[in-house]
Amino acid sequence: MSAQSKTSMNGAAHSTAQIEVRNPVSRELIGSIAICSEDEVRGAVERARGAQPAWEARGAKERAYILRAFADLLWARRTDAMRLIRQETGKNDTGAFLEVYGIVTEAYWLYHHAPRLLRSQRRPALLPFIQYAKVHFKPHGVVGCITPWNYPLYNGFTDLIPALAAGNTVVMKPSELSPFTANYIVDLLYQAGVPEDALQIVTGDGSTGAVLIDYVDYVSFTGSTATGRKVAERASKRLIQYTLELGGKDPLLILEDANVELAAAGTIRSALENCGQACVSTERVYVTEPVYDQYLQRVQHYAQQLNVSVGDGFSVDVGSMTNERELKRTEAQVEDAVVKGAKLISGGKRRPDLGPLFFAPAVLTDVTHEMDVMREETFGPIVAIMKVKDTDEAVRLANDSEYGLSGAIFTRNLTRGEEIAKMLQSGDIGVNRTYAVPGSHALPWGGRKHSGIGRRGGPEGVMRYTQPQSVLVDTMIGSVPSLTLLDSLTMNTLLALRVLRRYLPFI
Ligand code: NDP
Repeated sequence: MSAQSKTSMNGAAHSTAQIEVRNPVSRELIGSIAICSEDEVRGAVERARGAQPAWEARGAKERAYILRAFADLLWARRTDAMRLIRQETGKNDTGAFLEVYGIVTEAYWLYHHAPRLLRSQRRPALLPFIQYAKVHFKPHGVVGCITPWNYPLYNGFTDLIPALAAGNTVVMKPSELSPFTANYIVDLLYQAGVPEDALQIVTGDGSTGAVLIDYVDYVSFTGSTATGRKVAERASKRLIQYTLELGGKDPLLILEDANVELAAAGTIRSALENCGQACVSTERVYVTEPVYDQYLQRVQHYAQQLNVSVGDGFSVDVGSMTNERELKRTEAQVEDAVVKGAKLISGGKRRPDLGPLFFAPAVLTDVTHEMDVMREETFGPIVAIMKVKDTDEAVRLANDSEYGLSGAIFTRNLTRGEEIAKMLQSGDIGVNRTYAVPGSHALPWGGRKHSGIGRRGGPEGVMRYTQPQSVLVDTMIGSVPSLTLLDSLTMNTLLALRVLRRYLPFI
């Protein structure tokens, strides 16, 4: 990594302020990071800006080969990467593996598709035959990636590698809770061939992220809605573009004809993925009356089988939470719900026997929209279940939220499932399957309403990192000069074209 980021990560930079990074399970010190000063952030961006033209000039194909080499390297080093992710977050092996798998396969997707997406396009010009036009997709310049702690690899790099693929250079600001995973992955990108100045890390806290916005040409932010609003304000003052991946309050609808067994297991899996510390985890479950009792019985059955553990291996279902703040917020939501009449039918208590941030997954029933657990974002292991009369009521309640990130529907009628999906005000919906959109790299995903602006993933996730530039070439270099836009020849041609253009789409 660059000298700048290396010294920042090793804590030996000019900055004196330091942040200690601790393992959330053992509380052991993993290391310390420097809080970069404004000068250091500006310096990193200047170096990235200096490196950008050469990175762009290498062309989309060469950059794609580098990303594929990175993916191969990451796969070969997956055990080390998973260990680091687990050290910083306390999550289980399954979660760490899926982060690695997700980035490796995204890089392969970019390798196959980014060069084609970024290719210049020939388009019709004002005057066919004597003019031609092309659209080129130019990178923004230096992209600032500000990333959270919950998926230090996946959320850290799912926005970053398409920015590189599109010819931008990048300065990354990882969360202060998980900088060492970012550091390790950036080193792998260097080994794969990304030049050191083309990708740098600046470490620090929220203030470092804020300062970064003042220097870069584009901001890609993943984090909370509250911080996202501040990022948008700061970027707007500079008139630079940004994308925001923010919080969610994702609904799951269980229709009258659902496969209840599948729905119950899907609920548990989706609500408790990464201990519920996921933007796209299920947070509100609406179950239609006819299947409610059966569903509840099956959810209880699966909840009792969960393996909540500090151990290794893919049989651990729920690991540790990552920070005390989110654990306290989770406890407060459970308490608020119970005080307002909800029933806690499973879990809902800390597990200090396992570690300081372990929490037995809470299953709440009889919840209502008057409770915080159904309105505010949950970032912890809670399954909140509400009985509804029918599908119409489920759809109405699902849309009664300021968020609109993800969602899911369980029904045996696939056509109806698709129809109902379109009625939900969410950026993506899974029918009979939760958590499959983020791993489907051809699909865009991101939030509506307060859940975000813009999309990651798919062609949309690449093209946001470019600015279209149109170039029109007139071949009539020997024509008679004219001072009017409408000489008689042009006028007659335009009139003829008007008629043709009414019928022909390509002219
Ligand atoms: P935050 O919004 O607190 O932080 C996200 C990142 O922004 C961190 O790197 C943080 O630094 C940095 N930051 C903090 N303040 C500022 C600021 N004023 N200007 C610029 N950057 C700043 O979120 P969390 O890290 O606590 O993550 C949890 C939240 O993120 C949840 O609400 C969750 O829903 C959302 N999220 C959304 C995702 C999505 O894809 N839609 C994915 C993952 C999480 P530092 O950590 O050092 O303070």
